[in-house]
Amino acid sequence: MKKILSVTLIFSLILFLNTSCNKADSTSAVAGKTSISNAEIDKKVADLMAKMTLEEKVGQLTQYSGFGELTGPGASEDGNAKKIEKIKSGMVGSMLNVTSAVQTREFQELAVKNSRLGIPLIFGYDVIHGYKTMFPVPLGETASWDMEVLEAGARVAAKEATAFGLHWTFAPMVDLMRDARWGRVMEGSGEDTYLGTQAGLARIKGFQGDDLSSNLTIAACAKHFAGYGFAEAGRDYNTAEISEHTLRNVVLPPFKAAADAGVATFMNSFNDINGTPATASKYLQRDILKGEWNYDGMVISDWGSIVEMIDHGVARDHKHASELAIIAGSDMDMEGYCYEDYLVELVKEGKVEEKLIDDACHRVLVLKFKMGLFEDPYKYCSEERERNDVLTPENLAIARDAARKSIVLLKNENNILPIKETVKSIAIIGPFGDDKDSPLGNWRGQANPNSAVSLLEGVKNAVGKDVKVTYAKGVNATTGDRSFVMELTINNTDKSGIPEAVAAAKGVEVVLLAIGEDCYQTGEARSQVSISLSDPQQALLEAVYAVNKNVVVVLSNGRPLEINWMTENCPAILETWHLGSESGNGIADVLFGKYNPSGKLPMSFPRHVGQCPIYYNRKNTGRPADKRPVVFWSHYTDEENTPLYAFGHGLSYTTFEYKNLKLDKKSMATNETLTVSVDVTNIGNLDGNEVVQLYIRDLVASVTLPIKELKGFEKVMIKAGETKTVSFELTEAELGFYNAESKFGAEAGEFKIFVGGNSIDLVETGFELK
Ligand code: BGC
Repeated sequence: MKKILSVTLIFSLILFLNTSCNKADSTSAVAGKTSISNAEIDKKVADLMAKMTLEEKVGQLTQYSGFGELTGPGASEDGNAKKIEKIKSGMVGSMLNVTSAVQTREFQELAVKNSRLGIPLIFGYDVIHGYKTMFPVPLGETASWDMEVLEAGARVAAKEATAFGLHWTFAPMVDLMRDARWGRVMEGSGEDTYLGTQAGLARIKGFQGDDLSSNLTIAACAKHFAGYGFAEAGRDYNTAEISEHTLRNVVLPPFKAAADAGVATFMNSFNDINGTPATASKYLQRDILKGEWNYDGMVISDWGSIVEMIDHGVARDHKHASELAIIAGSDMDMEGYCYEDYLVELVKEGKVEEKLIDDACHRVLVLKFKMGLFEDPYKYCSEERERNDVLTPENLAIARDAARKSIVLLKNENNILPIKETVKSIAIIGPFGDDKDSPLGNWRGQANPNSAVSLLEGVKNAVGKDVKVTYAKGVNATTGDRSFVMELTINNTDKSGIPEAVAAAKGVEVVLLAIGEDCYQTGEARSQVSISLSDPQQALLEAVYAVNKNVVVVLSNGRPLEINWMTENCPAILETWHLGSESGNGIADVLFGKYNPSGKLPMSFPRHVGQCPIYYNRKNTGRPADKRPVVFWSHYTDEENTPLYAFGHGLSYTTFEYKNLKLDKKSMATNETLTVSVDVTNIGNLDGNEVVQLYIRDLVASVTLPIKELKGFEKVMIKAGETKTVSFELTEAELGFYNAESKFGAEAGEFKIFVGGNSIDLVETGFELK
């Protein structure tokens, strides 16, 4: 029997509707019910602000980083003693990096018990992919294309973080990225605007739930506004040049969707964009975010991004930087030490209008009321929950599910995977085979070091006693002491362990080669010019393959890598990212067929780093490949244009066939809905999940548009032999784009529709928009 699944592209509709609808209530942007209404909150904030001095209002706009135990040595240091006095006098609105129930309570008491008005602090932290129970790094988790997985992961993270007294996470990162050299790709959702938008929304929902005042939910933060992922040449913090066309059509949609969905806060970014540091960009923060989008949440600077405007060369000094930032709409100063010293003076001198301070302060206080902090400033600090609610079997089960669903099977020749039940000997080789730490990933919250299930442990847990599992490290991925992360460097020389690894590989039935990147090779400030395996790891791979061809590469990494040799030679490659606490168990589930892999790449894997930035939704150019004049077309003379592994690629242990792509009409008016349906049949012998992807192409438009754009996807479970009909609905919201005048709308003309299991192998049809 055929089952019909209907996918309404709700996000895009919301996006479209919201371009023309203003919100009626000034606090409605913060998601979720709270115990008091928005109107009541507005009144409470107004009453409180009527009592506040200018100094106290500015105080709410200052955020300090934590500095250890209040009673410990840190407190006696001069600077910290001053900070404590500031908190006590109500001159601080927020803190970050205070990470325990005891500490948050202590700092909260300083503010609430000592300051004139007793305004509570709000505590923020980078809860990126878990707090104690770690989930796959965001890029990896997005590879699941399963929004329920993302939401569930964020919900667990919120539950655990709030137990430690935290109110606010600086996540999700919804920056678009197209360059694997940029270290922070691990923290995002890949190269596609539509997928990135859905991923951002799922995570915001997971973090914030539908009740911000619950002490199990955490305020989210859409970051980094904007253009941070477009750092030139993939070098972190670097300049971004983004045309209005790309800004509107590619970079901003995930942020707009987050704002419309009620994300509690935004964070601006370190980079300059089109000549203005984002922190000083009135265009981004006031005109677009708070103006056009009517966003009424709060905008925090990135760490020190206000003071960094001196180095950018647009601010003379701290005072000038403060002036630029507050006028541009940056509401809170994270560790920049600018606002606290200069905003009052700037107002008194008439350089900054007091109403800007009032507006920023209002936004901060609304959030605090929404979270119920005025009712009970300590309600999130629970030593009991801190002890009992983390790393629970339930949380770990959710993490294991996320881990296995995030794995992408890149290659599987001759069905070498899943490993046969009859297997008797397995060698695990490589620097990540017995690593219990790297799988936790970068941006790992407060994960306990070395607490992940290693590949070795996962495999041993999965096989019976009569299977011989051996392990040899072969080479180190890094040199240096992991407890001093800043000092870790890539091992580019030492190959001395290779002979032992080769000996271990000889004669075993399957070799699992655990290679790739250390988790600290990706993340903030971890940009690289090379995205290949390190020389010792490549040497290990080749030496092992020379003695045993049954090599399954278990790749762990936070960014797309250049893996041509491995692709040409090894029969199977499993992309396992940095999968979190349950890494080894999740990988073993896939290796032994307990879970049929279903992940798909959220980012293209280049053949060569020189192709970066590389992305599937590129423009056709005036000299595309299909014209192929002898030399003068848009290509490289020493490499293909195509990626090694395309966006959306990911194999299964079964095979899916796409047939009967149908439209309910051949032409449609802009106010109509087009229904697209396709039959997907599982023609293999195993049940499996398939991510059905829908792309469109607008053939002729007033501006150049991509050759393909994802506009819908649905992950469906299809039993062996079964056919499911998957349907998508398209409206002007999906067919439209921002034109040269930055106006959104669809233009009449011919469109192509493509559907398939990746961005390359697609069935297609077309229609006309009248
Ligand atoms: C990062 C932000 C992060 C902040 C606070 C900055 O360096 O860019 O993403 O939220 O630090 O840790």
